[in-house]
Amino acid sequence: MASGLSSLGSRPIAAPSSSRVAGGRSGRRPMLRNPAGLVPAPLWTVRGANGVSSSAAASGDWKRSNDELYKLQQELLEEVGASPGVCLATAAEESLADGSLGRALCAVVASLAPSREADRDSRADTVAERKKLAAQLVQRLRKEAAEGSICIDESKVQPAPFSSSSPSPPSISAPSSSATSATAVTAKNAVAPATTAVKTAPRPSPVKQPSPPPPATVRQPPTAVRPASSPPQKAPTMPPTSTAFVDAPAQKKAAPSTPPRKEAKPLPPVGAPPNLRGAPPSTTPAAPKAPKSTEPKAKTASAAPVGSPPKSLQFPGAPPPARTAEVEADVEEPAGVGATKELPLAGENVMKVVMVGAEMAPWSKTGGLGDVMGALPKALAHRGHRTMAIAPRYENYEGATDTGVLVRFRVFNSDHEVRYYHQYKDGVDYVFIDHPVYHNAGKNIYTHGSRLDLGFRCALLCKAALEAPWHVPCGGVPYGDDNLCFIANDWHTSLLPVYLQGHYRDYEKMTFARAILVLHNMAHQGRAPFDELSNFEIPQHMEHSFYLDDPIGGEHMNILKAGIESAHRLVAVSHGYAWECQTQEGGWGLDMYLRDMSWKFRGIVNGIDLHEWNPATDEALTTDGYKQFTKETLATGKAACKAALQKEFGLKVDPDVPLLGFIGRLDYQKGIDLIRDSYDWLMGQNVQMIMLGSGRDDLENDLRSMEARNPNCKAWVGFNVTMAHRITAGIDILLMPSRFEPCGLNQLYAMAYGTVPLVHAVGGLRDTVQPYDPYENSGTGWTFDRAEAEPFKSACNNALVTFKNHRESFRALQERGMEKDMSWEHAAEQYEEVMVAAKYQW
Ligand code: ADP
Repeated sequence: MASGLSSLGSRPIAAPSSSRVAGGRSGRRPMLRNPAGLVPAPLWTVRGANGVSSSAAASGDWKRSNDELYKLQQELLEEVGASPGVCLATAAEESLADGSLGRALCAVVASLAPSREADRDSRADTVAERKKLAAQLVQRLRKEAAEGSICIDESKVQPAPFSSSSPSPPSISAPSSSATSATAVTAKNAVAPATTAVKTAPRPSPVKQPSPPPPATVRQPPTAVRPASSPPQKAPTMPPTSTAFVDAPAQKKAAPSTPPRKEAKPLPPVGAPPNLRGAPPSTTPAAPKAPKSTEPKAKTASAAPVGSPPKSLQFPGAPPPARTAEVEADVEEPAGVGATKELPLAGENVMKVVMVGAEMAPWSKTGGLGDVMGALPKALAHRGHRTMAIAPRYENYEGATDTGVLVRFRVFNSDHEVRYYHQYKDGVDYVFIDHPVYHNAGKNIYTHGSRLDLGFRCALLCKAALEAPWHVPCGGVPYGDDNLCFIANDWHTSLLPVYLQGHYRDYEKMTFARAILVLHNMAHQGRAPFDELSNFEIPQHMEHSFYLDDPIGGEHMNILKAGIESAHRLVAVSHGYAWECQTQEGGWGLDMYLRDMSWKFRGIVNGIDLHEWNPATDEALTTDGYKQFTKETLATGKAACKAALQKEFGLKVDPDVPLLGFIGRLDYQKGIDLIRDSYDWLMGQNVQMIMLGSGRDDLENDLRSMEARNPNCKAWVGFNVTMAHRITAGIDILLMPSRFEPCGLNQLYAMAYGTVPLVHAVGGLRDTVQPYDPYENSGTGWTFDRAEAEPFKSACNNALVTFKNHRESFRALQERGMEKDMSWEHAAEQYEEVMVAAKYQW
C-alpha cells in the first residue's frame, strides 16, 4: 500500500503541460515557455561546447539552451555562495531552476524596485543580500557575455511578470461589448470554458493542444435593464446514492503533542512585501511611485485595465468601482497628487484576490472556515488588494443584488446555468453563486443529499468562481485575470486549482492567475470511489493526481490530494498544524505528499474578526442583562455577562462559582468525550458548566445526558451564533480538549473576551495559548499534553485552584489574553507573502 503512495509521488513522464504548475523541486519541472508567449522569445543565445554559436530560438533547441543556462546559473549561485532560497526572491530562484535566465534577472531586478530599497523593515538585511547577489550575478553575466559564451539580447529582456511595468500578459478580454445583448452568447474562445471573447493576439502553438473542454455560455444583461429571471431550473438529477464523501479514516492516535513551535520549513521571505504600515504621511516625501506601465493607461478608475466592459455594461445601482490600489494603479493622477498619495499597506504587491469557500460568515457558517471566509478578505482589502470573496447563495441574502449575469457550465456531464449575486461591503466584493442546488442544501451545507450532490455543488462552485473575475461587474469593472490570485479553501474548493490548470492554463488562458489552497482540516478530503471521477470533467492527464491508495481507504479518488498537487502554494491555518499535516498522525494519508511539497507549504495562524468578536461592540451583549466591556471595564462588564448568562440558563447567579464552558462541533475531533469521561469528577469540584454544540447524534445525546445528571450543568444542542457570543462573554474558563485543532478560533475569541482557555496543546491551540506559569506570572491559559482524561483533569484542577484561591493571578491571565493582538492584520500580511511567492512561480 505504501508503495502505491510513493508511486504516485512523481508525475507520469508523458504528463502534458499541466505538470509545469507547482511541480515541486524534484526534477519534475519541465521546460518553460516564455512567459510572454507560447514561443520562447530569443532572449539570449548560447554558444555550444564546440564554440559554434547557436540561437536557442532560431534552432528551436530550446531544451538544450535551457539546460546549458541552468548549469551556468547553478555555477553562478555556487560561486557567489548563495543559498537560493535565502538570498534570492523566489521569483528569481524559481526562474533559475526553470532555466529561464532572463526572467531570473528580471525578477531579481524587480525585487530591487525603488520602493523596496526604501524598505526599512526587518527584512532590510534580506534586501541588502539580494542586492549584493544581484550585483554579482549581473557582473558575472556581463563577463560571460563579454567572453562570448553567452549573449543577452537586452532589447528583449522583459520585466518580471506582473511588475507594474510589465506588459500586459496575454489575456482574455472580459465580456465584450458584443455581449450587451441578453441573448446567450456561446464562447468563441473555445479552449477555455465560459468566456465571450478571444485572446488579444493569436500566437502559434508549439504543441498540439488536447481537445478543449466544452465551451460555456455567457449571458449578459442589456444595457440598462436587467434580464428577466431565468426560467425556473430543475435541480440536476444525480444518480441516487445514500453514501457520503468518506472522510479520512478516523485515527485513534491523537495528533503529535510536541510539534516544533515554528512551521517545519518556513518559506524564504520571497519577494516579501515591504512593511509599509508606516508609509509616509501625506506631508512627508512621497514613497517612490511604481514604475510606469508600458500598457496604455486607463484614464479613469472606471475604465478597466484589461477587458473592462464598456460603460454601457455598468449596471444601474451598482456600487462605484472599488477604488482599491489595484484599480488606482492604472489611473493617472493629476499633477501633484501623486506626490502626496500614500501607498496602500501592501505597497507594490497589490493584487487581485478571489477567495472561494463553501461557507462564508455571516451569510453561511458551520465552523471556523466560515469565519475565515468572512474575515480574511476584509483584511486583504484593507491592505489594498482588490478582493472578491465567493460562496454559494444558499438563501436569499439581503443586500446582495442580482448582477444579471448568467453563465452556463458543463458540470457532471450536463449544462447548468448559474447567476451571480454581488454585494460590496467593507471594501470586499462579496459574490454569491446562485443555482437551485445551493438553495436545496440551505443550512445543511455538507450534509444535504448524497455524496454526488455535494460533489456537484463543489464542482459548480469552483467552475463559477473561476469565471467570476471575467463576468461579475464589480463596481462596473470586472477583475480580469492579470495579477490575479485565487485562494481556495479545503477540499470543497480543491477542484479550483485543478480546473485552473486543466481547463485554462493548459490552453494558455489565465496564464498569469495563481491558486493557493488553504488547509483548514485534513480530516475531510473528498474521498470517493475512483470511478466517480468521470463526473468532474478532469482532463485525462490530470486524473492521476486524484488517485490515492492508502492503508485504510484503499484505492480511491481524493479531491484534496489533487488540489494539493495543483495549487501553486499551500497554507495551513497554523504553524503547528502545518507541521502536523506532514506527520503520519496528522496527515490523514496525505502526509507524504505534503512532505514532498513542503517547499510550497507554510502555516499562518488565523486572526479574529474584531468587528464580529469584540466585547466592546458585541451586539449580542446589549440586551438581557449582558453588557459590553473592555479590558478597563472587565471587572464590572464581565461580571454582568456572567450573571446574565447564569440567569439565561437557569443556573444560580453566583460570581464566585467557576463557570466553565464548551462551544463547538460535536465531533471526535473536539474531544467532548474527554469532558464526558471526566464529568463526575469535574462537577464534584463545585463548578457550573454550559455547553453549546451540534453534530454527531451520539455526542449530542451525551450533552443531553450530562445536563440531565446535574442541575449545575446546562447544554444547548444546536447552532446558535448569538448564544456562542454570550457564552464566550459570560464564562470564566473555556474548555477546548480537541484531539487535533488546525487553528481553533474559540480559544482566540475567549481570550478577547477575558475568558481563559484550557486547551490540549496541539495544532493551533499550541500556537496561540501560552501555558500559565504562576512563578513568572506569564501565559494566557492552561494546557495539557495528552488528549486523555487524567491530564485534562489535572489541567482543570490547576485552573480551578487559580480561579478560587488566586483571583489576582486569574485576573492577570484574563488581561494578558485581552491584550493579545489577534487581529487579521498580521495574518493578512503573511498571506500576501504567499500570494507574491505564487505570483512569481510558474
Ligand atoms: P471548527 O472550524 O473546527 O468547527 P473553530 O474553533 O475553528 O472550529 O471554529 C468554530 C466556529 O464555529 C466558531 O466561530 C464557533 O463559535 C462556531 N461554532 C461552533 N459550534 C457552534 C454552535 N453550536 N453554535 C454557534 N456557533 C458555533
